Amino acid sequence: MTKKKRKKYLRYKAKQESMKRKSMERYGSWMNFECQICGGNLFYFHRYDADCCIFCDVWYTSDCEEPNCPYCAARPSAPSEALYYEELFFQDRKNIDKKDWLRQNYQHKKDGEHKHQQRIEYIAYYNAFK
Ligand SMILES: [Zn+2]
Ligand SMILES: [Zn+2]
Repeated sequence: MTKKKRKKYLRYKAKQESMKRKSMERYGSWMNFECQICGGNLFYFHRYDADCCIFCDVWYTSDCEEPNCPYCAARPSAPSEALYYEELFFQDRKNIDKKDWLRQNYQHKKDGEHKHQQRIEYIAYYNAFK
């Protein structure tokens, strides 16, 4: 590869990378925390209420140890797998009230039996698209 071509290629790669980062904001948010392994930004997945390093493909959040928790029990073993599912879900996600999703996500942290049940129904609805 010539120097000029390589420069162009690198610019292209950087653009692809930033577009990917931007598109991932549909599924969660980039955090101001760095991965202890690679130094990249950690990413927070809304669906699984969990942090991860997408570059190292590792979860940073351990599960809540609630066997019926749809957040943790349904979490794929690797963030890359989770990302793959998010891409699939995205088409259907458009039809869902995003505020409703975020509110339920917030409740996960607050916890409570009734709220847990609501989430189970919500996730069941999502899983129907798998
Ligand atoms: Zn990392
Ligand atoms: Zn949980």
